[in-house]
Amino acid sequence: MVRLDWVQIPLYEPFRISNGAIAVKDAIVVSYRNGGVTGYGEASPMAGNFYSAETPESTWTALEKLVPAILRDADADLDVVVEGEQFAKAGLRGALLDRELRASGTPLWKWLGGEDRPVPSGVALGIFDTIDELLERVERFVKEGYRRVKVKIQPGWDVEPVSRIRERFPTLPLMTDANAAYTIRDAAVFKELDRFHLMMYEQPLGRNALEEMAELARSVRTPVCADESAESLSMLERLIELRAASIINVKIQRVGGIHNAKRMHDRASEAGLPCWMGTMPELGIASAEAVHLATLPNFTFPTDVEASSRWYLDDIVEPPIEIDGEGFLHPRPVRVSEEKLERYGVRRLEFS
Ligand SMILES: [Mg+2]
Repeated sequence: MVRLDWVQIPLYEPFRISNGAIAVKDAIVVSYRNGGVTGYGEASPMAGNFYSAETPESTWTALEKLVPAILRDADADLDVVVEGEQFAKAGLRGALLDRELRASGTPLWKWLGGEDRPVPSGVALGIFDTIDELLERVERFVKEGYRRVKVKIQPGWDVEPVSRIRERFPTLPLMTDANAAYTIRDAAVFKELDRFHLMMYEQPLGRNALEEMAELARSVRTPVCADESAESLSMLERLIELRAASIINVKIQRVGGIHNAKRMHDRASEAGLPCWMGTMPELGIASAEAVHLATLPNFTFPTDVEASSRWYLDDIVEPPIEIDGEGFLHPRPVRVSEEKLERYGVRRLEFS
């Protein structure tokens, strides 16, 4: 039996980046029950084309086709059934794998070839109305233990906020994420940002501007990290070939699930490119998957996975995702609250 639950969890504050803002977190929880064991997966697109063309609506529609195909034939190739729709596939594949691992009592980190080790967590800060607000957030989250700060930038909100953070926190591990908001004509901005010894420039240029990104990477000291550009194994091959990035942000949802995400990690590792685990961001089921995956050896930078309480008034897992006082996450099994799936559910569908 497979059940889909579309849930909406309210956010503490709207999340703003260079291309929009949202106030509610949508996710579709996939529950797969077989032989008395239930596995859970999470398909976690943002509403309104936030980071990708996939939306909760398109993900739901894709799952309506993918689930019956899997129930007919457990080995069905999801990429043949539906083209694209990676978030939907991440949720379904996650549920199938989770059921298998729960049935055999195997921790996910172990199945992945990782280890039971703490994973450092970093905080991502959106764009604020004033730099003072931004500084207040940096201060608050550094106190909570987060081990690096990532600040979103866009034209008009870049050198000044970064310079003010640096002035106040001279040794803080700090990086920027432009979400593809610049072009190669803005290279001077990144040359100026080079002064602040940042860990990396995440996705400075457009998703497909790989040649320009390679050019930028050659002209700045700070390493360039591919995020939006690292959307598939074939894009990763192009990034490697062009030397367009020296760090890769791996996201489980974007690449269609944990199996493909592990392939991205392995390929990047082989090419000598360190990685870190990004988020879309997700609720507790998918965040936990990311923490387990992040225990693989080539994930060498802090993850974007944050505590549930960072964004959400509640989470669907118990206990919620938490960071310890030192800013680390721990790979643990999660318990999904059936009661919360009902409480926050806006749509439910069952297949048998
Ligand atoms: Mg990013």
